[in-house]
Amino acid sequence: MKRSYVIRTFGCQMNEHDSERIAGLLEADGMERGDDLADADVVVLNTCCIRENADNKLYGALGNLKTLKESNPGMLIAVAGCLAQKDRDLIRERAGHVDVVFGTHNVSRAADLLTQASEHGPVVEILEAVARDDEEAFPSALPTRREVDHAAWVTVQIGCDNKCAFCIVPAVRGPEISRPFGDLIDEVERLAADGVSEITFLGQNVNSYGRDLALARRGTPANDDEWMCGASWTADRRARPLFADLLRVAGEVDGIHRIRYTSPHPKDMRSDTFAAMAEVEAVCEHLHFPLQSGSDRILAAMHRGYTAERYLERLAEARSAIPGLAVSTDIIVGFPGETDTDFEATLAVAAIAQFDSAFTFIFSPRPGTEAAALESDFVPHDVAVERYERLRLVIERSSIAANRTRVGMIEEITVEGISKKDSSMTTGRTRRNALIHFPTDQPIKVGSYARVEVLEASVNHLKGRLVEKTIPARHRTRIAVAAG
Ligand code: SF4
Repeated sequence: MKRSYVIRTFGCQMNEHDSERIAGLLEADGMERGDDLADADVVVLNTCCIRENADNKLYGALGNLKTLKESNPGMLIAVAGCLAQKDRDLIRERAGHVDVVFGTHNVSRAADLLTQASEHGPVVEILEAVARDDEEAFPSALPTRREVDHAAWVTVQIGCDNKCAFCIVPAVRGPEISRPFGDLIDEVERLAADGVSEITFLGQNVNSYGRDLALARRGTPANDDEWMCGASWTADRRARPLFADLLRVAGEVDGIHRIRYTSPHPKDMRSDTFAAMAEVEAVCEHLHFPLQSGSDRILAAMHRGYTAERYLERLAEARSAIPGLAVSTDIIVGFPGETDTDFEATLAVAAIAQFDSAFTFIFSPRPGTEAAALESDFVPHDVAVERYERLRLVIERSSIAANRTRVGMIEEITVEGISKKDSSMTTGRTRRNALIHFPTDQPIKVGSYARVEVLEASVNHLKGRLVEKTIPARHRTRIAVAAG
């Protein structure tokens, strides 16, 4: 009997990508994906530490696993990800039934550490950082087990050089390391050959991609400059390879029909990225543009490196460069010291920006961040909740307004499967990253493309009617077809 594994992923796309790699490593080690935690031979919890309740979620899950392990003593439990990177041995001190703890810099060791633990007992292995030339530093160098067959994450850089006062990422993911340009394009071509038609470039700050590569190359010019930094950097001898170069070259790869990316940082956003988004057919008309706050005083306290005015200028430039652009954002309310005036500024900027959607959060102090030490300035929770509700209404107003402008239009969609809420409907995703539900009388394969006329709009999704199927899915199917 093949041993089975179950992976539970908390947090962001970077963690989802790491989990696909951990799954790939375990399958390469002869295991198969299991569904039932109780019967699993291996359980991996891939953790996040961005939010306060991240700890509660982990130790709550470990509490449940303790009971399951009592009736399945052969089960191996591993804790990975950002909270493992931050808490290290503390995790086994609080949960002695954990067998393996590994962090964000040694995902490649997952299978080996599990074998080591099964033979020699519990192991905690946390690396401080990765070396630039460490092949396995980039999850994309490892075997993978993708969640969906037609779409893939492609990591362009790991780590972050920014020091946002509320963020623990630099502490747990290390400094920015950009992946060699040639490596990235190679992977995009491999994915396209494997039937993938949509890629999402991943990084904590994608538009600073390549900054470190050029510096490294200047130090040691060599004949593989093109591999490291791309043909256009080599040809133009520019300051650095650009994220825009990546969008342009990846957009020429046969079979790649859609390109998305997350996350850019407004202070590093460049006009050449907007130009590439406008000119490269495959790049979708969606920009995730984290604002965080609309108050210059709070933006400075957060060390975001831009003002509200500068943010809105960049946003206006993006919208004029890219017709039909949808914009989503991240906003934190209740950052330490935030006054009513600061919050009103956030509401005002959100109203001007007219976001299509937003992830809004109440500030939560993360041990190890600068902001967590500002306890005397913490905003009372009830005040933060009241502000959160007011902001949510402003965002909902602009979301519904934006979705209503799509009624009557024909959207190109990718089929994502049967609607979770209504099995008679099929769910698709537009190029602007909106969900759309529509009835079909014939099953449509997940990953196929179609044109759908928008008939109705609501805050979080659209409804429509199928006009025609366009591009069939190219990947080999492993998952169920959509409803019919
Ligand atoms: S840019 Fe700021 S918020 Fe984003 S990962 Fe880096 S430090 Fe965190």
